[in-house]
Amino acid sequence: MRVILIGAGISNALISFLLRRQYGPAIKLIVFDKDKSVGGRMTTSCDSEGNHHCFIDMGAQYLTLTKSNSTTTKLFQQLIDDHVIELLDKQNTIGMRENPDKIDYMAPRGIASVVRYFFEQAVVEINLSKHITKIDLDSTNNKCAISTNEEKLDEAEVVIVTVPVPQVLTQFKGSIAQLIDDKKEVKDKLGQVKYSSRFAVGLYYPTSIINLNIPWRIYYVDKNENDCLRYLAIDNAKRNKNEPPFSLIAHTNVDFGAKYIEADTRVIGEQIKENIFQFLPELPRDINNTKYHKWKYSQVIQSYPDTPGYVLLNEHPLLVLAGDSFAAESTFEGCIEAAIETAKKICELFN
Ligand SMILES: Cc1cc2nc3c(=O)[nH]c(=O)nc-3n(C[C@H](O)[C@H](O)[C@H](O)COP(=O)(O)OP(=O)(O)OC[C@H]3O[C@@H](n4cnc5c(N)ncnc54)[C@H](O)[C@@H]3O)c2cc1C
Repeated sequence: MRVILIGAGISNALISFLLRRQYGPAIKLIVFDKDKSVGGRMTTSCDSEGNHHCFIDMGAQYLTLTKSNSTTTKLFQQLIDDHVIELLDKQNTIGMRENPDKIDYMAPRGIASVVRYFFEQAVVEINLSKHITKIDLDSTNNKCAISTNEEKLDEAEVVIVTVPVPQVLTQFKGSIAQLIDDKKEVKDKLGQVKYSSRFAVGLYYPTSIINLNIPWRIYYVDKNENDCLRYLAIDNAKRNKNEPPFSLIAHTNVDFGAKYIEADTRVIGEQIKENIFQFLPELPRDINNTKYHKWKYSQVIQSYPDTPGYVLLNEHPLLVLAGDSFAAESTFEGCIEAAIETAKKICELFN
């Protein structure tokens, strides 16, 4: 069986991993993503203009396990045993909520290493910088064909799309758009999926800076302390590397994100950077490089109603929408649960 997965984020990494575990060598898994690297919103970005050992988790920061969740515990344990994640040290953090039923983990090689781990375990073919704009059903050969604006790229009997739903509704042409249009209830529910927005700014320091003069590793900023910033972390310290090269990540709060979402990322990024230096006057200004990112689709605030973890748009050929738009929670743990349901359904239909 050939399976095309559109989106190289954690949801498709997990679905690939689960399908490979079920089918062994009898399945070919082919991944496409519009970005230049794997990870999606679990992305790790290195200082492309300076020290490549200086990197920052620009999106998801840490992975939270619910102790009472036996399903997700197994995968967390595998990641711990294979040294992909480690306990997040909560010493020197400000404003982190404590929950006795939750444990937080960080990824020492950056959060994208978790996504890479599952894709590697699944043995997938990965095609990057491929912006898919069209998905068509071909009922004569029972396949779905995927295309960019320039060319038809591939076809398979199963296509899984884990792109955030608002982007699915605006980006894709062809049979996929027609199928959504024809299914009134599905279309209505897809229209209800909503995401928050926020900006991220990453500061990369040169190795010559041996101290950032900051006493904490993670700081959740309260609304009445600052009306722009929400989350700050000394990213290398978060990963227990309290030595140069240092890096700092800032996320804005979602009200700020919503207010400026249509504005130019660089212009707003500069404004946020100034805000960081005003909020932390002791922070050295001697930086190597700055990265700005607009997360228009950051985390789900309203998921697909009564979601089973996915939506089938067509059974033969199989075209399925999955990812965190269909998860109970817009987190790694939520993505695991939704991926398990998606993989289970695919196995049910093809067994
Ligand atoms: C700022 C921020 C902080 C977060 N913090 C945490 C946290 O601390 N802990 C936690 O557990 N979760 C956190 N999350 C949420 C978590 O990152 C997401 O729930 C998870 O990564 C979603 O994974 P996904 O694979 O479903 O989607 P994505 O990671 O969004 O993957 C979708 C992929 O599809 C690709 N794509 C989109 N359109 C196309 C197209 N037309 N053609 C080809 N490819 C396309 C995208 O490039 C992307 O790689 C955070 C998210 C953000 C943004």
